[in-house]
Amino acid sequence: MSYRYIFGPVLSRRFRTSLGIDLSPDEKSCNFDCLYCELKAKKPKNFITNPPKVKDVIEELKKALREFPDIDTITITSNGEPTLYEELSSLVDEINKIKKDKKLLILSNASKIHQKNIRDILKKIDIVKLSLDCVSERCFKRLDRPLKGIEVKSIIEGMKEFRKEYQGELVVEILLVRGVNDKIEEMEKLRDVLKEISPNRVDLGTIDRPPSYRVYPVSEEELFRMAEILEGLCVNVVCKGDYAVTKRDFTKSEILSLLKRRPQTKEDIERQFSEKSKTVLKELLAKGEVVLTNLAGVDFFKTS
Ligand code: SF4
Repeated sequence: MSYRYIFGPVLSRRFRTSLGIDLSPDEKSCNFDCLYCELKAKKPKNFITNPPKVKDVIEELKKALREFPDIDTITITSNGEPTLYEELSSLVDEINKIKKDKKLLILSNASKIHQKNIRDILKKIDIVKLSLDCVSERCFKRLDRPLKGIEVKSIIEGMKEFRKEYQGELVVEILLVRGVNDKIEEMEKLRDVLKEISPNRVDLGTIDRPPSYRVYPVSEEELFRMAEILEGLCVNVVCKGDYAVTKRDFTKSEILSLLKRRPQTKEDIERQFSEKSKTVLKELLAKGEVVLTNLAGVDFFKTS
């Protein structure tokens, strides 16, 4: 069957099988114009061109759910920014009525998170993933190229407010661009702000599809180095995993201090733990000194 607003199912390591809902199928409608955007560069705007009716989206979603009953997640996204969709609140209500055991996820650039009405809508969604690439205004404007009047300061304050109100799983995504937001000082500022926001998980990645402007990814080695700066947070490094390190034997106390500094994903463990260290980790798990927690679809080893 072909659909106008529904796409997928898409397989993702983090959200397993997902059906996407595109609220702007005609053209990119976004209030940012990020240097790394995989959609064509376009002047930012504050509305969705030719937005769909809620009933049309729901009608298609019902059909798609009958066609793909085994999907895990329904993702609200857009050929741009989904919080620009004026009927988002009723769309979310209608999806929640029919989604049964599926998780509802939204991917947003967080530009409107300082608005209470938007936070109230997002609170009704199981997993909210928000972008935050920089903390300093200069870096934000250079990288995300927002519509005039949008400030990263309000986005950060809005995220803090949202965390206080929201019971679901909050994921913050950082996308690193070489020479733009990959400075150690920017990352240290991000870490301090993220600790105040306290998301369930931080996804740290870089460009992996052709970007709209001439910008470049950081290396995988750099991604892991930056992840180390985000100490104390559950960081999921999003990469193909080409960067190999020599596997090490970790002692019990080394494992505990590593996990205390930064919880590690299963992939992190595979990448750097020898078989002997994995056995020690299993013992720590069995004793309850280490726990395995799933955060919005990613398993992390943490100290208890
Ligand atoms: S917020 Fe997303 S859709 Fe909008 S310009 Fe940036 S990357 Fe593209």
